[in-house]
Amino acid sequence: MEFPAALKQLIHQPQNTVIVSHRNPDGDAIGSTLAMRHYLDQFGHTVHVVFPSEFPEEFEALPGSEDILIWDIHTEECKHVLAKKNLFIFLDFNALNRIDKLGDYLKNLPGQRIMIDHHLYPDQIADFMFSEPEASSTCEMVYRFIQGIGDGQKINPTVGKCIFTGLVTDTGSFRHATNAAVYRIAADLVERGVDDTAVQDMIFNSQKEKNLRLLGHCLVNRMEYLPEYRTALIWLSKKDYEIFNIQRGDTEGIVNYLLSIREVRLAAFIHNQPTVVKLSLRSKGDLDVQDICKKHFNGGGHKNAAGAYSHDSLKATVEKFKSLLPQYKEVLLKKQ
Ligand code: 5GP
Ligand code: MN
Repeated sequence: MEFPAALKQLIHQPQNTVIVSHRNPDGDAIGSTLAMRHYLDQFGHTVHVVFPSEFPEEFEALPGSEDILIWDIHTEECKHVLAKKNLFIFLDFNALNRIDKLGDYLKNLPGQRIMIDHHLYPDQIADFMFSEPEASSTCEMVYRFIQGIGDGQKINPTVGKCIFTGLVTDTGSFRHATNAAVYRIAADLVERGVDDTAVQDMIFNSQKEKNLRLLGHCLVNRMEYLPEYRTALIWLSKKDYEIFNIQRGDTEGIVNYLLSIREVRLAAFIHNQPTVVKLSLRSKGDLDVQDICKKHFNGGGHKNAAGAYSHDSLKATVEKFKSLLPQYKEVLLKKQ
């Protein structure tokens, strides 16, 4: 990471700053934005965090989450706040279409822009671009950004807790996408006073009973296993949404259970959200699900974790997904 003088000045002198992350914010989106907020607070910035849509309830335990503005809910307030900003920080996304109408709105506003992100193939959306697809998480990058600029002492337990959250969620509790830096950062954060067990509890042990029952329903009634393609999928219909009273974040992580089958290389979770069908793909090994999402569903993400939206019906989307499998058979069946 390089830090030109103009960037240092933007960070170290109080600005009217907004930090933005992507639709359906996950632990890395929330952790990185709140870490950045608590860091910039220490330099006297006037900071707002804006997300296009709501975040899962468990992250309400993170300090500062109560001030987050949601474009879908507080549109007018967001517009009002954004119009006053001169510094825009984009975290955990790299193309304005990932923030929908919020992107259309802030595209034309004057001001400096910083992007910190670890997804593949960034658009040129900022004056200062930090793009590292090999990073485990945007939170890892935010940690290295703060250290790199020379402000390691500003990583207090609050900033640290937020960073630790994204490290844990984007690596599935240090199971994938890790690297030596991740473990060093995690150790450093614990030394700085982050309660790692409390963060893990917030993420993994704060489910509602109905979510466990929903998971049971998915595994017993909605899972399809296609051994000939080493693929497993789960789909959920609008009716399932009603019966299980599924709310934001309730389906987070379900796709990962499919990967726990030893033979499975490709896992898909395809579900009917109110206006679109959402796909979440995960893979083990060489199969690039980012490529599948981009080529066939106009989505994106990472090699082993990607997502997309479809305007077809649920049934048509599931069929389309299955019809693609023969073209990936070779890599799916490859010994590794
Ligand atoms: P998830 O399946 O958990 O929603 O997302 C997995 C990864 O793919 C995340 O890094 C997320 O940011 C990315 N992703 C999810 N949906 C989309 C999408 O529609 N477009 C793009 N470009 N990336 C997505
Ligand atoms: Mn991320």
